[in-house]
Amino acid sequence: MKEIVLIKLGEMVLKGLNRRTFEDVLLKNIKYRLRGLGRFEIKIAQSTIFIRPLSEDTDLDDVCERIGDVFGIVTFSRACCCEKELDDILQKAPDYCRDALEDAATFKVESKRSDKRFPYKSPEISAQVGGKLLEAYPHLKVDVKNPEVTVTVEVRDFGAYIRCATIRGQGGMPVGTSGLATILISGGIDSPVAAYMMAKRGLKLNAVHFESPPYTSERARIKVEKLLRQVSRYAGSIEMHTVELTKVQETMRDRCPEELFTILLRRVMMKIASRIAKETKSGALITGESLGQVASQTMYALGCTDAAAEKVVFRPLIGMDKQEIIDISRRIGCFDISIEPYEDCCTVFTPKHPRTKPILHFVEQAEREAQLDELIEEAIRTATVKTIDF
Ligand code: ATP
Ligand code: MG
Repeated sequence: MKEIVLIKLGEMVLKGLNRRTFEDVLLKNIKYRLRGLGRFEIKIAQSTIFIRPLSEDTDLDDVCERIGDVFGIVTFSRACCCEKELDDILQKAPDYCRDALEDAATFKVESKRSDKRFPYKSPEISAQVGGKLLEAYPHLKVDVKNPEVTVTVEVRDFGAYIRCATIRGQGGMPVGTSGLATILISGGIDSPVAAYMMAKRGLKLNAVHFESPPYTSERARIKVEKLLRQVSRYAGSIEMHTVELTKVQETMRDRCPEELFTILLRRVMMKIASRIAKETKSGALITGESLGQVASQTMYALGCTDAAAEKVVFRPLIGMDKQEIIDISRRIGCFDISIEPYEDCCTVFTPKHPRTKPILHFVEQAEREAQLDELIEEAIRTATVKTIDF
């Protein structure tokens, strides 16, 4: 029995966006995501994407798992391919629906006939297929209002299909349809979630990670790479820029008031990330900040941080509680990596009493006195780049 995967394109999602762009990018992302699983014929017709495996040994479970990670897909399903003949549909339906119906108590059949040349109308198709399924599984009852299983028969231009279950996709918009943005990624819980959330809105990502060896270790960086690899399941490949801040941070420690270390470091991060964004033609910065979570995330501190950014800063977690963030982190498979215990450059030289209401004027003055500009330039010059992919 030939089986394929059908992806329904939600009409709502298509509204604001040029439909062709949406479809082209989504198709490209699906093809990329399925690489390594065999050869496929992938086509789009009548608001549906058809994925037909061309190799015998392709496992559709693997295909569905991958499709379930692709943004821009609201629902999808596996489907059995039939000839456009009622006899063939009736013959295949009992076998194909066995797993779904054997343990169910109630079901209904829904039919859609988009090819109007097919000689049976939808209600007739439903009645015939329903009768055949009741014959094969006499324990079943028909329940049109609230069935456990809905069997759908579709008669389309290219063929007829039987489906028993609809799987929910990630939703969102295809990665790339909103442009490119730069995630400031740490090894913590928040920034990978922020990356996931903005990729869901159609942004392709590149990443900046700051480290301070020997205060931070090689293992800490490997952990960040692992996190990005997990995020790339959803977001596609990510170019990671690693920037060394050791000299900048040591100089700040020697020359700046301790209570300003945190805000000064945040501003350095914004300046460097803005430059990398500019050089890579990225249109925005993304952080995992959440209002009030720590001293550097008060409204006043965020204001001072923003003043150093030369791009719009997206903070998708700004109004979320830690528990809500953790729930997403678990769902997307990042949490167990995030809680591995490695140091971050943010916790190097942390002040005992960081300013929670820093005043921009004084912060800028401290910056000027510390003469950090040349060190910042050097950090940008010596950044390393690596592509992370799942
Ligand atoms: P996270 O869990 O994402 O580390 P956090 O709650 O620990 O966040 P901070 O350490 O204050 O908060 O960092 C706030 C944001 O700054 C992070 O979400 C991330 O976007 C960015 N950031 C922090 N440390 C780094 C780093 N070493 N490299 C790049 N960006 C960083
Ligand atoms: Mg952190």
